[in-house]
Amino acid sequence: MKRLPFRQVHLDFHTSGLIEGIGEDFDKKEFQRALKNGRVESITLFSKCHHGWSYHPSKANRIHPHLNFDLLGQQLEACNELGVRAPVYISAGIDEKEAVAHPEWLLRNADESTEWVPDFTGAPGFHILCFNTSYMPVLLAQIHEVMELYHPEEIFLDIASVKPCLCASCRAEMLALGDDPRDTDAVTHQAERVFTRYAQSVREAVRAHSENCAIFHNGGHITRGRRDLAAWDSHFELESLPTGGWGYNHFPMSAAYVAGLGKEYLGMTGKFHTTWGEFGGFKHPNALRYETGLSLAFGAKCSIGDQLHPRGAMNPDTYALIGAAYAEVEGKEPYCEDAELLYDVGILGQEAVSGGASDRDMSLHGDIGANRIMLEGGYLYRFIDLEADFSAYKLIILPDTIRLSVESAGRLRDYLAAGGKLLATGKSGMAKDMDKFLLPLGAKAAGQAESIPSYLMPGFALTTGNSPHVMYEPCDIIEPAGGKVFARCADSYFNRDTYRFCSHLHTPNKPGNGRPAACFTSNAAYIGWQVFTDYAKKGSLHCKELVIYAVDSLLAGSKTATASLPDRGVFTVTRQASKNRYVMHLLFAHTTLRGAFRYTGQEKLVEVIEDIVPLYDTRIQLRTDKYVRRVYLAPQIEELGFAVKDGLCTFTVPRWKCHQMIVVEL
Ligand SMILES: [Zn+2]
Repeated sequence: MKRLPFRQVHLDFHTSGLIEGIGEDFDKKEFQRALKNGRVESITLFSKCHHGWSYHPSKANRIHPHLNFDLLGQQLEACNELGVRAPVYISAGIDEKEAVAHPEWLLRNADESTEWVPDFTGAPGFHILCFNTSYMPVLLAQIHEVMELYHPEEIFLDIASVKPCLCASCRAEMLALGDDPRDTDAVTHQAERVFTRYAQSVREAVRAHSENCAIFHNGGHITRGRRDLAAWDSHFELESLPTGGWGYNHFPMSAAYVAGLGKEYLGMTGKFHTTWGEFGGFKHPNALRYETGLSLAFGAKCSIGDQLHPRGAMNPDTYALIGAAYAEVEGKEPYCEDAELLYDVGILGQEAVSGGASDRDMSLHGDIGANRIMLEGGYLYRFIDLEADFSAYKLIILPDTIRLSVESAGRLRDYLAAGGKLLATGKSGMAKDMDKFLLPLGAKAAGQAESIPSYLMPGFALTTGNSPHVMYEPCDIIEPAGGKVFARCADSYFNRDTYRFCSHLHTPNKPGNGRPAACFTSNAAYIGWQVFTDYAKKGSLHCKELVIYAVDSLLAGSKTATASLPDRGVFTVTRQASKNRYVMHLLFAHTTLRGAFRYTGQEKLVEVIEDIVPLYDTRIQLRTDKYVRRVYLAPQIEELGFAVKDGLCTFTVPRWKCHQMIVVEL
């Protein structure tokens, strides 16, 4: 398959059937001018939108009632003339005209309500269809037709993921198989069966026409730990609009997982101030510069979401905005092609071990907290799953709730015995069915502290001193068994209750030294608190410092590279093996909360980037036993002085802004 282009646009075109004059302002030359101004190498174009309409003459679907020519065909011709790649978009899980006409095709919850909006009389919005209905042959015919008519290089299928459904078809199939539709596990199995059949039949439909056409099923998130689902995709498009509810941390977390799956991936942001469908919404050009830089830093290609006006004319302001970011990307590409994202730490997190098929679940606070501490602490990390080669990681983190099977525990014990290091927190490292450690952590589990919150009594220096610090999540107490205790847990006088409380918030710590709650061995650390969850929910500095103390102690002298950055800075290191060089990425932009909006029933915060401020004197150290030939800023090609001593190459970047690459040539 061809390499994915670096500079892509995803051109949404969900257009109500009530709007007239569809495509009437489409002009091939103007369309091409926009692509050139935007420096776009690939643009995803619509065959069929969420409203269900086709944007070309169709026997398998109905053309938009107010479109009277082959808009997709003309857009593709315009792209073809410029050599711009053009994946074709088909709305798979949503077809609103069919949802209205065929209630029996709708995905149903247990109470018969629908998704994304619960009914047809309340809030406006799209309704998801079930692939286990007679809708599926309709969709497949549409895929066959697009493949025959347009021979695309990629088919992008949207709203396609494992979704529990209790529609009449799904209930009937479950009952026929002897399953109980009231059993949630059985409903999950049914959803998995339906998705597998869907993905298999889509693959067959596409492959009937092309061996090479790329296929991507978009569900808004690549589920960690589900390589079987990821196997249906030719590559990954990581939908992650920072101001659209995903925030600025989701993309790094997602990229840090798919980087280990051996396929190309791109980071998909949007040009909108908020999210998809926001006509007339623009983000500051600096935000797109930062977001595309963030994609490159995590080994991804770039995609920017836009939505075409119903009349079919591209917005010149949008393509000026995109072009400003993509002009920079273009100059950076030689340093990003075939770059492998390096890592020291592997996070074996909650999503990866749950085995479920979550839709960008934002409630996995252990994973979210671990991701944030890795980013803010400047660690080189990946999210891993149980299929990963543990021996590739210097340190593995099990955040908060990672109970182990006998088999997984055996693999981790072997990893430790072979020199690996491990940090477990909370219930992690314990057996599935009892509070007993299955790993040699230098301690025995001694029950959970009754106090919630409890107090951290640190055996090391915190920025805020050594007095008791409040910890909001539960804590497991330990009895040391060879390990060295580095934190103790003090109870409060009592837990807050209707008839027994103190002051506004919670009860103070009881005098005394508390009980052991964190310890080290030579290659493992255990922290009794569910500290990653606490950090994700409340963000207390001492939670982060507790983790950093443990991680830095375990990684002492072995980190691949470090950079002196503020908490909001991002640091990654990639290697271009064929060019025998490292490319380091520094990113910094401050974000500000500026408002919120409601989307699919949830409140989403809008975190904006406007001004870019420079950072000064960022000191970087790279561990290498090779001869260093040259260190320079890229793409500017400005040489940097450096010193090599004891296997560490040290240099300082005097001043930089937004996204800066540094090349270390060996
Ligand atoms: Zn169903």
